[in-house]
Amino acid sequence: MYRSMMLINGERVEGASGRFEIIHNPANQEPVAEVAIGDVIDAVKALEAAQRAFPGWSSVSARKRCGLLHDAAEIVRERADHISKLLTMEMGKPIRDSRREVLSAADSLDYFAEEGLRNIGEWISAGDTRSIVVKQPVGVVSMITPWNYPVELLAWKAGPALAAGCTAVAKPSSLAPVAATEFVMAINDAGLPPGVLNIVHGSGDTVGAELVTNPVSRKISFTGETSTGRWIMEAAARHLKRVSLELGGHAPMIVFDDADIDAAAGACVRRAFGNMGQVCISVNRVYVDDAIAEDFAEKVIRRTLDLRIGDPLDPEVDLGPMVSERQRRKTREHIEDALRKGARILCGGREPEGFTRGYYFMPTVLTDVDHTMCIMREETFGPVAPIMRFSSEEEAVRLANDTEYGLAAYVYTNSLRRAVRTAERIEAGSVGVNIGSVIDLQAPFGGWKQSGIGRELSHRGLEEYLEIKHIRLGL
Ligand code: NAD
Repeated sequence: MYRSMMLINGERVEGASGRFEIIHNPANQEPVAEVAIGDVIDAVKALEAAQRAFPGWSSVSARKRCGLLHDAAEIVRERADHISKLLTMEMGKPIRDSRREVLSAADSLDYFAEEGLRNIGEWISAGDTRSIVVKQPVGVVSMITPWNYPVELLAWKAGPALAAGCTAVAKPSSLAPVAATEFVMAINDAGLPPGVLNIVHGSGDTVGAELVTNPVSRKISFTGETSTGRWIMEAAARHLKRVSLELGGHAPMIVFDDADIDAAAGACVRRAFGNMGQVCISVNRVYVDDAIAEDFAEKVIRRTLDLRIGDPLDPEVDLGPMVSERQRRKTREHIEDALRKGARILCGGREPEGFTRGYYFMPTVLTDVDHTMCIMREETFGPVAPIMRFSSEEEAVRLANDTEYGLAAYVYTNSLRRAVRTAERIEAGSVGVNIGSVIDLQAPFGGWKQSGIGRELSHRGLEEYLEIKHIRLGL
């Protein structure tokens, strides 16, 4: 069985307690890896290692730091098969998607290696004074990540933090720590000095909480549930730590009567069911103009029935299992709540036949839904597309904004005016117009309302790891 160790101060170690936990494959419940489990003491050791490494790493030239990040990206690419396989086996993502995630994580490292060279200050002349404005790394960063994109989301943090000159301690989710750890090992193997990037395993309320509350770390970069983010922000307030929070989402998709219905239906199926709906920017609510609602639903159902469910290691498979029984139960409960309140199932709504050992669930399309139902208000994090009709643009925008979240939204229309008007009125950090993806390394990503604070990716993602200093010179 695979053994996943922690990395503290450049050494592969087990935790002080010597404890290991077995990670099981959600597709068949077979053991995948034994994972060294850390405790508060290990988190402290890792933070102290990062603190010792900070003066050296932050004073290395940006060119050298960023060169190492490019080397790290190459090593990740060389190990992509190995890392993707572990990722699929620990959390059930189809191997094609795992590979895409790992390669995209390598691209993020390359991107921030370039962005890190553009950390350029300002020079202001004023009579007999001069002002220099410089941006310096914030210090030691705690990076806490979820299980649904354990490699890519860590790359979005490690890339800019290391490029900026910060040192870091990462803590992946206990549900999927193995591929994230391999990713950190690969970055270290590019020749990072010991202690620059550490990774510890363990539960949120021990290791995670220590990374949040210990004053050694100056910043917390967190991706996860909104409720956890709230707790982190409160705890961080005690030391006025910087926080970036990428939290939950409940993305609406609006399909107007003038849209390319095929394109919209395709995007809906990919975005609602990809990664089994376990994505913060999944389509969670679909609003369709009355005039095209039936046609649209038919096209969505046809495409949904074409999806291949199976062993996620099979490269032909579109959908694997969900990550855990807990996620599957929540999905079932949200569907049952909707049915009790009048919704109808158009397809799916149950476990597929013949998959008794894994946490499989059929991609589900619902209709006759309304906003009293949990599925239209809370993050299900499962493969469900509820379709609701609207009769005016005004109503569509009101329904789309009737949520406490504001991460992503999608709009399908062939009217440029309507596209711009709608995109501008939607309360979300990203809006995809006639496109079912809102991720672009060069553009900022983050949430409005209860979906978070701060931005990842783009030059703004780098700024999150930099403090501003004004140096005034008297001549
Ligand atoms: P989670 O909040 O349960 O856990 C995330 C991480 O926080 C894990 O590593 C966990 O161990 C740690 N944690 C838990 N309690 C903690 C505490 N008290 N102190 C410090 N750390 C703690 O989230 P999850 O179930 O792993 O992930 C799913 C959630 O993540 C969904 O809500 C999803 O929308 C969100 N998410 C958001 C984005 C985004 O970019 N906005 C991306 C992916 C996932």
